[in-house]
Amino acid sequence: MPTSLLDDMIGVGDMVLLEPLNEDSFINNLKKRFDHNEVYTYIGSVVISINPYRSLPIYTPEKVEEYRNRNFYELSPHIFALSDEAYRSLRDQDKDQCILITGESGAGKTEASKLVMSYVAAVCGKGAEVNQVKEQLLQSNPVLEAFGNAKTVRNDNSSRFGKYMDIEFDFKGDPLGGVISNYLLEKSRVVKQPRGERNFHIFYQILSGASEDFLCKLKLERDFSRYNYLGLDSAKVNGVDDAANFRTVRNAMQIVGFMDHETQSVFEVVAAVLKLGNIEFKPESRVNGLDESKIKDKNELKEICELTGIDQSVLERAFSFRTVEAKQEKVSTTLNVAQAYYARDALAKNLYSRLFSWLVTRINESIKVSLKKVMGVLDIYGFEIFEDNSFEQFIINYCNEKLQQIFIELTLKEEQEEYIREGIEWTHIEYFNNAIICDLIENNQTGILAMLDEECLRPGTVTDDTFLEKLNQICATHQHFESRMSKCSRFLNDTSLPHSCFRIQHYAGKVMYQVEGFVDKNNDLLYRDLSQAMWKASHSLIKALFPEGNPAKINLKRPLTAGSQFKASVATLMKNLQTKNPNYIRCIKPNDKKAAHIFNDALVCHQIRYLGLLENVRVRRAGYAFRQAYEPCLERYKMLCKQTWPHWRGPISLTITLFKLEDLRKQRLEDLATLIEKIYRGWKCRTRFLLMK
Ligand code: ATP
Ligand code: MG
Repeated sequence: MPTSLLDDMIGVGDMVLLEPLNEDSFINNLKKRFDHNEVYTYIGSVVISINPYRSLPIYTPEKVEEYRNRNFYELSPHIFALSDEAYRSLRDQDKDQCILITGESGAGKTEASKLVMSYVAAVCGKGAEVNQVKEQLLQSNPVLEAFGNAKTVRNDNSSRFGKYMDIEFDFKGDPLGGVISNYLLEKSRVVKQPRGERNFHIFYQILSGASEDFLCKLKLERDFSRYNYLGLDSAKVNGVDDAANFRTVRNAMQIVGFMDHETQSVFEVVAAVLKLGNIEFKPESRVNGLDESKIKDKNELKEICELTGIDQSVLERAFSFRTVEAKQEKVSTTLNVAQAYYARDALAKNLYSRLFSWLVTRINESIKVSLKKVMGVLDIYGFEIFEDNSFEQFIINYCNEKLQQIFIELTLKEEQEEYIREGIEWTHIEYFNNAIICDLIENNQTGILAMLDEECLRPGTVTDDTFLEKLNQICATHQHFESRMSKCSRFLNDTSLPHSCFRIQHYAGKVMYQVEGFVDKNNDLLYRDLSQAMWKASHSLIKALFPEGNPAKINLKRPLTAGSQFKASVATLMKNLQTKNPNYIRCIKPNDKKAAHIFNDALVCHQIRYLGLLENVRVRRAGYAFRQAYEPCLERYKMLCKQTWPHWRGPISLTITLFKLEDLRKQRLEDLATLIEKIYRGWKCRTRFLLMK
């Protein structure tokens, strides 16, 4: 079939070739392709991926073979083409790569990251040792997903942590191992889940999949409803087999290299967390006028202590008192019922999130090697707008702003600046730069995170309201900040904005944040009595998770707040990404129903706008779709031209030779000019300058 007819039917594979180019034609093109099961489309080298919400037969071993060692534009758009390109640049040109996968929650980032990993695993290296490395790298996914993913209203398998994985290769391109970095797990989920959502998968997996004997060892019962920490309204997820997944996870842990006793310890900690939620408190009669609390039924406490080797009286005391140490002084105060619940939840969240970080460290121990060439795959939690958005969404959305910023910097800003720098005629293409929003959040003096920290560290009474007041003073006039608290606020009459909230106009839409809990979550306070109780446990894993509980290592300095830790790790990540050659996958969610075959134009349009995809096409079209520095290009193709081969005298001499050839086109020389043209068929490329001048 002629190409144009085919394009009419299934749309064009590269948006750069779309005629005419406007928002409607862009969406129509995506829709046409989606309807024909073509879920991938290019904007030059950027891959747009639309979640099909059903399994398509396009990831088979035959497909892998089809895309292997083929040039990017040779076959129809596919995530494998991008993976192949990245892998070959790494192997043949020694360029470290990173794959940046972005899109909102449920758009398909995690699936995309796994497809990239499995493609690379399929095409790189052979042999038993290499295969073992590959297996370990791939099997780290089910382990981390079980502990770090959960069902949310947006996504049945939503990542509740950020993950960046460097896959490491030797000079031949064989995989040697990898290193995983994890970013802030949404630990509040351990103790409470929004309606219609679940706790982390692993809890349900153990209860559904463990044998009677194992459950008995963990002192657990199979019935979900026995546990306060498990959201009841959506305990079972359609199409998800928790029991089978439990077997997958155990098997994966074994492949990754967990010893049996380590796996056992991990599940003991998970069981202890689950059981902590069942400890309940009641008020105790006031002694000396102090509010005190008492554990209602000590059976659960007893079992937790048996599981973890913690002295029951020590833990009981830690739930009843709080000791504050300052210099030489030690002051103990009793905890009331609310404080006891707070302490219990803080302990559960800390146990679980530290266990998660330990798992990442432990996996790294198995897969880590000294760095050679690396390919980084970034899969973070996607942009989120819920009805109630809290500190977690604020952090997640900040991370997404930063990623969008990197995309803008590299594909829109720097690209345009480069043309101007090189004196190439260029008409500026407008785009929205979200640097202003990043600054609103992360500026060291006036950013929201800095103000939150300042408030958390300030002596005196600090509440979420005092934090909001402070925000109002400093940010009231910021274009992207909205609140009703300050008298001069532009939003004084905006009843859709409650007084206890602030709104940020993010690159991907407006999000209203409920300020309640910001101070507490940022402080991330765990009473020292509890960390000391954990450190005293005979359970070696639990002991290792709470090093600060060691009285000999008492540190009176405040630990970094959750916000500053996150900001610092995101900054390190961004620096790391900028040292690598970026490959982009922009994931798009076709509908809000998690359903196949539905393409909601308005929803897709919104994503295209905020992702800046149309601007991306415009810059690509106006510019040079392919660029290579002169020297490597000439070095690479020197043997194609009789003027330069076999007598190669370096790139400068070739350029001179080319200039001397009066008019290459007129003479119809079947040499470098034509060959280079063939190679870069139809593309504008800088090399063309050589031929035109
Ligand atoms: P979050 O930010 O919440 O972690 P995400 O972008 O990582 O979201 P995924 O978990 O990758 O989203 O995808 C959500 C679901 O969509 C998957 O569980 C799967 O059912 C489906 N899905 C995504 N990509 C594909 C694909 N290429 N083929 C088939 N189904 C897919
Ligand atoms: Mg995900």
